[in-house]
Amino acid sequence: MIEELLKILALIITPDWGALILLLPLLIAPLVLLWFLATGGGWGVVALTKRRAQLRFADATPTPPQRDAEGRPLYPAGRPYDPRAAALYPVGATRSNSGEPLLLACPGCSAVRLAEVTACAACGMEIRVRPRVQIERPAGPPPGGAARA
Ligand SMILES: [Zn+2]
Repeated sequence: MIEELLKILALIITPDWGALILLLPLLIAPLVLLWFLATGGGWGVVALTKRRAQLRFADATPTPPQRDAEGRPLYPAGRPYDPRAAALYPVGATRSNSGEPLLLACPGCSAVRLAEVTACAACGMEIRVRPRVQIERPAGPPPGGAARA
C-alpha cells in the first residue's frame, strides 16, 4: 500500500521528462491553431466589412456633334465618332454602343482612322487613352453616428 503510494508520488515528484517533452507539441499545436483561427477570422471580418471605393466606367453615352451651316456634322479631332449615327463618343471609346468600330480624326494631321488604332498611319502621332473610370464618393457620412443622436 505504502509502496504503491510512493510509486505514485515518485511519478509526480520526478516525472519522465523525456515523455513530457514529447507531449509538448500536443500542448502547443492547439494554441498555434487557435491563433491562426483567431487572426484569420479577424482579418476575414475586416476583408468582408471593409468599405471599398466604388469604381464604374465613365458614362459612354454618345452626344450629337455640332453641325455646320449646311447641316453636316462637325467631328472635332481626337474625339471618336460614329458617322452612321452622327454621334460623338467620349475620349477613349473605340466601339459604339451597337458594337460598330468608331472613327477618329488625328489631331496632328486630321487623317481619319479607326479609333482602335493607337498610332496614326499618316503622321505617326500616337494616342493612348486608358478607359476612364469615375470614382463615386458617398453622398454623406454613413448612417448613424452624430446625425442619429
Ligand atoms: Zn496623324
